[in-house]
Amino acid sequence: MRDIVILRILDCDRCICGKKKGERMSHCRKCYFSLPPENRQALYRKFNNGYQEAYLESIKILGITPERIEQYVSTFEGIMVDEVSDGHMHSVEA
Ligand SMILES: [Zn+2]
Repeated sequence: MRDIVILRILDCDRCICGKKKGERMSHCRKCYFSLPPENRQALYRKFNNGYQEAYLESIKILGITPERIEQYVSTFEGIMVDEVSDGHMHSVEA
């Protein structure tokens, strides 16, 4: 998943699960509190300083499917679904 996509996720008010979340928050409260403490802590890292890795780890822990990610990202204007996959995650076509 590219940085631009993760940034858009962070900026929007919708969690990857579909619930409302705060802007500049990674997840809604329910998702956030279902993560293990180490991962929650890691989500406080700065962008380009471990944040992206922590976010990708969190959605893996939450069991978000590639189909769900594709659906979620497709709601962002100007983001192509093929920008989601660049080696960190399975290709949405796979
Ligand atoms: Zn959520």
